Amino acid sequence: MEKWVSMPKVELHAHLNGSIRDSTLLELARGLGEKGVIIFADIEHVIQKDDRSLTEVFRLFDLIHIVTTDHKIITRITKEVIEDFAAESVVYLELRTTPKKNESIGMTKHSYLEAVLEGIKAVSTVDVDFRPHDSENFPHRNDTCNGSTRKKIYVRLLLSIDRRGTTEAAMETVNLALEMRDLGVVGIDLSGNPIMGEWTTYLPALKFAREQGLYVTLHCGEVPNPKEIRSMLDFLPQRIGHACCFEEAEWEKLKSSNIPVEICLTSNIRTNTIPSIDVHHFADLYSKKHPLVLCTDDSGVFSTSLSNEYNLAASAFGLGRRDIFKLTKNAVEYIFADDGVKRELKEIFSSAEQKLDL
Ligand code: 5GP
Repeated sequence: MEKWVSMPKVELHAHLNGSIRDSTLLELARGLGEKGVIIFADIEHVIQKDDRSLTEVFRLFDLIHIVTTDHKIITRITKEVIEDFAAESVVYLELRTTPKKNESIGMTKHSYLEAVLEGIKAVSTVDVDFRPHDSENFPHRNDTCNGSTRKKIYVRLLLSIDRRGTTEAAMETVNLALEMRDLGVVGIDLSGNPIMGEWTTYLPALKFAREQGLYVTLHCGEVPNPKEIRSMLDFLPQRIGHACCFEEAEWEKLKSSNIPVEICLTSNIRTNTIPSIDVHHFADLYSKKHPLVLCTDDSGVFSTSLSNEYNLAASAFGLGRRDIFKLTKNAVEYIFADDGVKRELKEIFSSAEQKLDL
């Protein structure tokens, strides 16, 4: 694993609450159990279960949200998630999260995102670059500390539209993203239970987001729904996630459009969206040189890490260190940050290429 851990990496599909550390989730759930808010014994096995269907995963998310929806906890999870990715040499992270409100504790979607930003600022193990470089208000942060150069991670945020919501709720999320652009919000994601809602409900908000210059990525084809998949591809999002339940016509459309795909191997296998790794569409897309990026999806929920995903891809598809390095280096082209960040990332990869002796 060490060779994958030390390699610089780009993570483009990570859900904040799904990336919660196991230990943190258990600690928080136990705490709520002691306060009598939940019955810990009833949920311990749900948290610790390894194999879950897609439906069970969404039940677990409902549980995670009961445990995590509090400002301080959101701040803590954000800090821990960034530190965990940085610890395995992720140099650029796009973290996505669904803004939530909880009137009983005075949480608005805006204050939820402020708590996320607090978490970004609280990271202490590495320097975090999360603000757009071209903003006059937010010049480059110094990446040295006490005179020594520290490790740095770029973090950008995507706000997720939940498929359970309304057009108005989706529009509110896009407006929040626009409001928080100077604070590192770069795009919009459509996610949530894929059997819920009609994607056309969110289309006005997604179109508006695009008109305003926000990037858009869509969870696409997690369940068989050819009409929706084709319509999503016609929208030409800048990236899509998963692409599991495609038929021939949808593959053709995807390949001719060249839309980059965020591939989440462990997630797809664990949720049985793909029956086994040897029939995963990664192999076909990779051999056709379709733009791809390996991602974790929910490192906490699926007990994985980006290094583990690289290891899995290398062993399942016979890829060497050089192939995997190229895969992650190429992912810089599909990030939702400005050209300045792309340039700096390319430099990081060039110098790593020499050091790693590939
Ligand atoms: P959060 O947005 O609360 O930070 O992260 C968890 C949420 O991300 C889930 O409630 C769900 O809406 C979304 N999510 C996480 N993993 C998946 C996935 O594999 N598929 C889809 N469609 N949504 C997901």
